[in-house]
Amino acid sequence: MDFTCAAYDRLLCVAREAGYRVLPIREALTGTPAAPALILRHDVEWDLNRTLAITQLEQKHGVRSSLYFRVDTGVFDPAAMRRLQDDGFEIGYHFNTLDRCRGDLTCAIAMFADELQRLREAGLDVVTAIPHGDPRITRIGYQSNADIFDCDPDLLNRVGLLDVGNGLSDRYLRYIYITDLGIRWNGIGSTAELLAGFRARRWPSVYMLTHPDYWSASPLRAMGLQIASRSMSAMKVNRVIASLRSVVDRNS
Ligand SMILES: [Zn+2]
Repeated sequence: MDFTCAAYDRLLCVAREAGYRVLPIREALTGTPAAPALILRHDVEWDLNRTLAITQLEQKHGVRSSLYFRVDTGVFDPAAMRRLQDDGFEIGYHFNTLDRCRGDLTCAIAMFADELQRLREAGLDVVTAIPHGDPRITRIGYQSNADIFDCDPDLLNRVGLLDVGNGLSDRYLRYIYITDLGIRWNGIGSTAELLAGFRARRWPSVYMLTHPDYWSASPLRAMGLQIASRSMSAMKVNRVIASLRSVVDRNS
């Protein structure tokens, strides 16, 4: 079954056995990892417990990833984030300030700097930030939350962040980008096919993004989400998961 914790466990096991060196983005930006390398990134959107299930598996396999936390949802939990940082995970900032400022660049840049400061004041050593791409938002006058960097080219430097986009771009050419967006692998039919690729070292270097909200301890939930996602666009899948989450939040 795809997108279960058991499948993720297997994926890490196979990648490690095939000799992949697993590393967070920060390490990929500051070093030159030898192939085969697997950069692991997770966008942490709504559910902290699902993220902890993933990080526990990574710890079991002796690897660490980058965790990009939203600060405007229930996942923002500084104590839990500090524990993950102490365990060797990279904590990053998953920002959506331009969406929340409805396209107002001045507002979005100020909010970005404030939220980053809030993370750092909470004892989190944040050196990278990745934009959130909420497909439910209609964007008027801008394309992406990352537009703040085009509008203010000195922003990253001023707030002391590494440039993930440009920093990985040279290396990007070597990396194959694999994502579970919409609860489906891009360009890969199944987790089994992905495992076969790792086993055969089909790709010398992989940059993999997963969303812990999509992954389930229960095969039943995994199956339900996957069946639902087959008949939906990624936008609809995110809408369903977000609304499930808001029902849970309201009831807890
Ligand atoms: Zn996101």
